[in-house]
Order: sequence, then C-alpha cells, then structure tokens
Amino acid sequence: MLAPFDFYSPSRIVFGWGRRSEVGELAKSLGSIAWIVVGSRTLEQNGVITGVRRLLESAGVRTHVLTTITHEPSTHDVDDTVAQLEGLRSEGNFLLAIGGGSAIDLAKAVAGIVTQRDWSVWNYLEGVGRGLKLEIDPWPILAMPTTGGTGTEATKNAVISSYDPPFKKSLRDARLVPRIVLVDPELSVSVPPATTAWTGMDAITQLIEAYITKKATPPAQALCLEGLRLALPAVERAVQDGRDRMAREAMAQAALYSGMALANSGLGLAHGVAAALGVHCRIAHGLACAVMLPAALQVNREVAQGPLARLARYALDIRTDDDAQAATMLIAHVVELCRRLNVPQSLAELGVRREQLPELVAGSHGNSLSGNPRPIDDAELTQILERML
Ligand SMILES: [Zn+2]
Repeated sequence: MLAPFDFYSPSRIVFGWGRRSEVGELAKSLGSIAWIVVGSRTLEQNGVITGVRRLLESAGVRTHVLTTITHEPSTHDVDDTVAQLEGLRSEGNFLLAIGGGSAIDLAKAVAGIVTQRDWSVWNYLEGVGRGLKLEIDPWPILAMPTTGGTGTEATKNAVISSYDPPFKKSLRDARLVPRIVLVDPELSVSVPPATTAWTGMDAITQLIEAYITKKATPPAQALCLEGLRLALPAVERAVQDGRDRMAREAMAQAALYSGMALANSGLGLAHGVAAALGVHCRIAHGLACAVMLPAALQVNREVAQGPLARLARYALDIRTDDDAQAATMLIAHVVELCRRLNVPQSLAELGVRREQLPELVAGSHGNSLSGNPRPIDDAELTQILERML
C-alpha cells in the first residue's frame, strides 16, 4: 500500500540557460502591470533589470520597479512596500521578483497582503499577531531566482523577520506559490563566491532535511535524491568558477528541487536553529544552515540511518548494503565539503556567545524543528549548541 500525499508546486516552471529572453510573453499571461522586486544592486548595474523591463514592455506589459532589497525581509519592509501600492490597485497587477530568496519572499508577502483589508503582515504571520488568514486571492507572482540556493521560488511561504521583538516567521498560504517560475541559471554567474557557497549549502541542507523529515512525501523525496546528486559535485565548482555553466545549471536546478521538496515535506533541526541564528545573531540563512548541517546529521544519524543511506547510494553512488556505513559516508562527505568551502565549524566563529543560548533554543522551535526525524527537547538542544560553541 502506498502512502497518500498532497503536492503543491508552481503552475509552470521554465528552466534553461538564457531563457530570460522569454520573460515578456510569460509575464503577459499573468497581467498587464508588473511590480518588480529586485534582489541585488548588481542586477541593476549589469543591465539585467533594464533588459527584463524592455522585454515586458515589448510584450505590452507596463513595468514599475517597486523596491530593491539586499537583506532578508522584515515586517517593516513588507508593510512599507505594500504602503507604496496605496491607491494603485487595479486590474492586471502582478509581482515579478528577480533575485535571491529575500526578493522572492518579499514579493510573496506583498502579493499576499496587498489584496487584504488589514495591511499589517504581522497579523498574518504564523504564531504571532492576530493569526489572520488571507481572505482574498493574492496577486500572481512570476519568480526569477538568481542565486541557486533558497528554492523559495517553489514554496508557499514567505519567511519574514522581526528584530524587535525578535522572530522569524512564515506567511503561509498555498496561493503564494509563484504562478510562473523562470529559472535562467545564467543570471547566477554574477553571484559572488561566498554567497554561492552559503546559498548552495542551503539547498543541500534543504534536500537532505526534506528527505529525512518525518513529514516526508514520496514525490518530494524523489526530487531530493536527484537534487542532491546534482548539487554535491557542483557547489564547489560554482564557488571556484562562477562562469562554470554546468555547475551553475546544476545548482539552479537543485535549488528549485529543494524548494519543491521543502514546500511539501518541511525541514528539520538545521533550519530550526538557522531561523534563531538569523534573528538573534543576524547570521545569513545559508551560512547558518551550512554551520548546522553536520551537527543535525549527527543528531539524526541513528533514527534516519535508512533514508541517509539511500541518499548516499543515489547521490554519491556509494555501493554498500550496510546502511550504517553508507550513512556515515554521506555525513563524512558533507563535513569535508563544509571544510573545503570554509564553513565555520563552531558557533563562536559566528560571534555567538554562551549567554545567547537560551534565546537561541527558544527561537529554534517552529515549523522546521517540528519535522525533525525525532523530537528534540530544550535540554538536548542546549547540549547540542553548547558542544558547537
Ligand atoms: Zn533554507
């Protein structure tokens, strides 16, 4: 008997080197007015945004750059951006996000909130505020990811931070999955090496956590296997040579698969702690995931031995019938990859202090940690983080 499942994904995914040239016609199918959220100054400076706008205008779509965001979006970023649209709501509006996870998450939140009566994103975030649901359909979204990492182009949640009070929570609704995802891996050639490494490790962490989570679903697991097979040999090559087409394509595809997987299966310990490291220590999401992944694998090694072994056999072509041995080899491979990518091996190297542990432990509980293969209570989480100092 096979397990029942639900599976959410974008309606249309367009993948391929140079395919941003098709953005005009794709955009036209969503509406007549594109509000653009840009994720980096480089995309403005190297002419990518100008080129995309020209293609949209040629297809009869009016364009406005709504904002440029170069940090993980906060509640203020969402509310300020939505406020810019006051009085401008009309037929045919849609959001076009081009950039990394920050730009796409901001666009998703704006698309969701702008059509509601209450314009404070706070009230719609999980676990804080008034717990409101999106009553009216969001504006459609066209997502163009450029960093080969977060996979947020394929998920139904927007991760929004607050620093006072500190939290990182999701605005979650199945209608926030971008309608069209246009992945042109050529857009990632200008991403600097460090960002390539951290976002790449984020994708790898997502592929592993979404595979071994207790909430895993069969189609998502198939994507994890293939995504990890693509990503493990490619991430270091993409870091060393940003113009390596094969490596950039592999990472863009792996990131997309990781997003589709996590949207349907959830994550685990590494992502739970990464959220807390983001708000309490201002550590970038991908870097936090990379630092936490080896520890999360050790913690889950026994309970998730079978799934880890299957990942090892598929992604690394490891030929052994011994699950314990295969799982150990996958973990060793990840640890060595982190070392070669200069991922810090301790939380102290990230500036984390012992007195911050209680707030980190409290801030790690949420949707991600609830999917970890086995439960982890506060005492054990404190021990895990203490060992990492
Ligand atoms: Zn992530």
